[in-house]
Amino acid sequence: MAMIKLDQVSKYYRSDETVSVGMKNISLEFELGEFVAVTGESGSGKSTLLNVISGLDGYEDGELFLFGEETSHYTIADWERYRGTYIGFVFQSYNIIDSYTVYQNVMLALEIQGYDKHERKQRALDLIEQVGLTSHKNHKASRLSGGQKQRVAIARVLLKAPSILVFDEATSSLDSGSEQAILKSLREIAEGHTSLVIAHRLSTIENADRFIVVDQGTIVASGKHQELLAHQGIYSELHRQQCKP
Ligand code: ADP
Ligand code: MG
Repeated sequence: MAMIKLDQVSKYYRSDETVSVGMKNISLEFELGEFVAVTGESGSGKSTLLNVISGLDGYEDGELFLFGEETSHYTIADWERYRGTYIGFVFQSYNIIDSYTVYQNVMLALEIQGYDKHERKQRALDLIEQVGLTSHKNHKASRLSGGQKQRVAIARVLLKAPSILVFDEATSSLDSGSEQAILKSLREIAEGHTSLVIAHRLSTIENADRFIVVDQGTIVASGKHQELLAHQGIYSELHRQQCKP
C-alpha cells in the first residue's frame, strides 16, 4: 500500500471571470522513505500539488488516499489532525526569532509542542546536532547565514517527527552552494521520512530518488535525473537553460 496515492486528482482556482488549472487529473504514488523532487516552471502547479498532498488545500475531483484511506469525506478537523500528525512543512521564510539563540528557538518550539519540561533540553540538543548546528547553538539567529537559519527551521519541523516532510522552495533564496549543502544533508536527516522537495535549480537535487516534472497542472515526466536527461523533454530543456553561463 502506498503511503500517499493520488487517483486522477484535479484542482481549479475559480474567480468571477476566470478558472485557472492548479492540477489536472494527476495520478501518483509515494512510498515511505522516498526522497522526491518536484520541478517545473513557475506557475506549473508544483505548490498546488504539495499543498493538496499536505492538506493545506482541498481538491475537487478524483481521490487522494492517505495510508490507504480515502480523504474526500475529510472534515476540517480531519485535515488538521492529519497535518498536525504527519506533515512537516518548511517554507521559504524561516519564522524564527532573531533575538533568540539557535537553542532558544528550538526550545521554544518544543515548549509550544507541549514537550515535557525535563525532556526538552536533551531533545533540543539532539535536534541541533542532527541539523549540524551544535557549534552554533548559542549564536543568536540574527547572526546566522540564510542556510543556517534554514537548518534551524528544519530542526523545528523535525521535532514533530513527521512522516512527510514538505519543502516548498525552502532553499531557493540561498546561493546554490548552500542550497546543495542543505538538500544533501536533508537526505540523511530525513531518512525514514518521505520528503517532497520543490527546488528551482535541478543541479542542487540530482540525487533525488525520483523527479516529477509538472507542466500546466499535469505530470509530464517522472524518473531519475539521468533517465530524464536522456530524453529530449521538458526536463532536459530546464536543465539546459539552467546550465547556461
Ligand atoms: P508553482 O508552484 O509551480 O509556481 P502554483 O501551484 O502556485 O505553481 O500555481 C499553479 C497555477 O494555479 C498558476 O496558474 C497559478 O496562477 C494558479 N494559482 C495558484 N494559486 C492560486 C490562487 N490562490 N488563486 C488563483 N490561482 C492560483
Ligand atoms: Mg510554488
